[in-house]
Order: sequence, then C-alpha cells, then structure tokens
Amino acid sequence: MTTPLLELRQITVSFDGFLALRDLNLSLQSGELRAVIGPNGAGKTTFLDVITGKTKPTEGQVVFKGRSLVGTREHRIARLGIGRKFQSPRVFEKLSVQENLALAVSRPKQPLDLLFGRLTADQRDQVQRLMEIVNLQNRADWLAGSLSHGQKQWLEIAMLVGQDPDLLLVDEPVAGLTDEETDLTADLLKSLAGEHTVLVIEHDMEFIRRLNSPVTVLHQGHVLCEGSMDQIQQDPQVIEVYLGTQEEM
Ligand code: ADP
Ligand code: MG
Repeated sequence: MTTPLLELRQITVSFDGFLALRDLNLSLQSGELRAVIGPNGAGKTTFLDVITGKTKPTEGQVVFKGRSLVGTREHRIARLGIGRKFQSPRVFEKLSVQENLALAVSRPKQPLDLLFGRLTADQRDQVQRLMEIVNLQNRADWLAGSLSHGQKQWLEIAMLVGQDPDLLLVDEPVAGLTDEETDLTADLLKSLAGEHTVLVIEHDMEFIRRLNSPVTVLHQGHVLCEGSMDQIQQDPQVIEVYLGTQEEM
C-alpha cells in the first residue's frame, strides 16, 4: 500500500471538555473519492475544520503528503493543496461566470478591472476547460448571481478545481438541489476523482449511492464503520444510530 495522501491519527477535539471528535482515525489514498456520513452533531464539520486548520486538535496528528499540519495556519494549508467547498455557495455574485473563474486561476490576485485582459493564453484555456467541466460554457457572461443554486455550487467547485488542489473537501454540496442537479453533482465529483482526491460530506443517501465510493460513518466524533454503501446499510450499529436519530438512511 502506498503512503496515504491524508492521515488523521487519533484526533481528539475538546470544546471545553465536550469531545466533538474522539480518537478519530482516517486515511485517504491519492485519487480516492470518499463519502463521509453521520447524523447531525456527529462531528463532520469539525473534522473538516481540523484538516483545514480552522480548529486545532486537542490531541493527535493530521499528516498531509507526509508532513504534519497541526499548528499550520489555514491559508498555508490551503496553499499546500487542500481546497474546501463550504456548504453555501461562495461565488462573487456581481461577477460573471468567467470572471469568477479567472480570479480562481490567476495567481497572484490582480485588481479586478485589469483582470480578464491580463490572463495568459493558458489561463484563458483553463477558464474555458473549467466551464466545460461544470457545463457552464453557455453561461460564460452570466452574472454568477443569476445562476440557479445548483449552478452556483458547480461554479464554486470549478473555482476550487481551478486552484488545482490535491485534496478537495466538499461539505454537503446537494442540500437544496433538484434531483437532476443532485445526480449531475455526483457525476461531477466522480469525474474529478483520480486526478484529485475528493472527500464529500453528505446526508442525501441517493447521492451517496450514486457516488459509488467507500463510505465512512461518523458517530459521536468517532468512526463507526467504513465500507461500501451496501455494507454500511446492513451494519446493525449504523442502523441503530440512524434509527435513534430519526434521520433517513
Ligand atoms: P456535524 O457537522 O456532524 O453536524 P459538528 O462538527 O458541527 O457536527 O459538531 C459536532 C459537535 O460539536 C456538536 O455537538 C456541536 O454542537 C459541537 N460543537 C461544534 N463546534 C463547537 C464549538 N465551537 N464549541 C462547542 N461545541 C461545538
Ligand atoms: Mg456540519
């Protein structure tokens, strides 16, 4: 087995004595697509916060590409190759689709009014390719604010991909999406795996099934089990946890 891209080793996060995560172990191989599920309060968002450096673990190690991330600042961790998609879309509503993407691919950041003319030919190609990946090529000049909720989510995913992270963390991408948008989002994330490593947190079980990836179940800050969707749906512990919370499985 090759060295994992990301490893969480015995992570504990205590908020004034309340253990949001306790002795959490998880490892991701490069190129993998992984779904993480768990009832509300299971610790899913805290788990992402620990990876991105927003929350410092009380105990344990986060190892990315062989180096420890604990104590490294958030922006630095992002630059090391970890991109995060938050639950609600964070796009620039008053900029067009291609301007949003131009911002994502241009480094260092330039003043907005100078921006588009100053992209290199390569960067312009990249913007075009990103629009095609998320099927927004016919919306290039639309203001991001006029897109549907699903299209905004895809635009933000494309912006993240434009920064070319090794690891993409995606928090509940299909909340509020139509069934068709949900299916397209699953297909999009599947197509990104391989070239990127993708970790998705979701509640929507149809979506998770369509991802057709290994699933990690979190419960009370701890990994309850890991396996295929079929395996975890038959796991008595998982059934009990979901029945106990009245959430749909
Ligand atoms: P999930 O995303 O799975 O719903 P969270 O990671 O948001 O769960 O939260 C896990 C638990 O930790 C919850 O019980 C939540 O109330 C608690 N928690 C999260 N953040 C804080 C914080 N900053 N201070 C105190 N408790 C917190
Ligand atoms: Mg959460």
